[in-house]
Amino acid sequence: MEKAQTNYKVASFAGVETAGRMTFKDMLDLSGSELSVNALPAGVSVPFTHWHKRNEEVYVILSGKGQFYVDGEEFAVAQGSVIRVSPAGERCLKADATSPLLYLCIQTEANSLVQATENDGVLAASKPSWL
Ligand code: ZN
Repeated sequence: MEKAQTNYKVASFAGVETAGRMTFKDMLDLSGSELSVNALPAGVSVPFTHWHKRNEEVYVILSGKGQFYVDGEEFAVAQGSVIRVSPAGERCLKADATSPLLYLCIQTEANSLVQATENDGVLAASKPSWL
């Protein structure tokens, strides 16, 4: 019998402060989402405003403080903030003058999720050594 295909991939965002942005769709063979990890130095803005044709985005602020812009509104975000933006929302993000910003952006097709969490998860027979 042929060995089963590996059911996982591991990547790292180490070095993102230098790279500025790392995307994981290709690194992890993601098939239903795009994940990026982004680092803005203190005082630096994403240099454009953008919107999406089909995808909503969830921004998760991992550390730092900044300002978020959507459709003419500006609001403060900080470590722990989670922001969902509809595809049509025109968005931009800036790190505060004294604080670099580290954040995830998860991009998925709007209205594509038909089940989640306990409606999709199934208890498995195998266990790790610590269970
Ligand atoms: Zn986007």
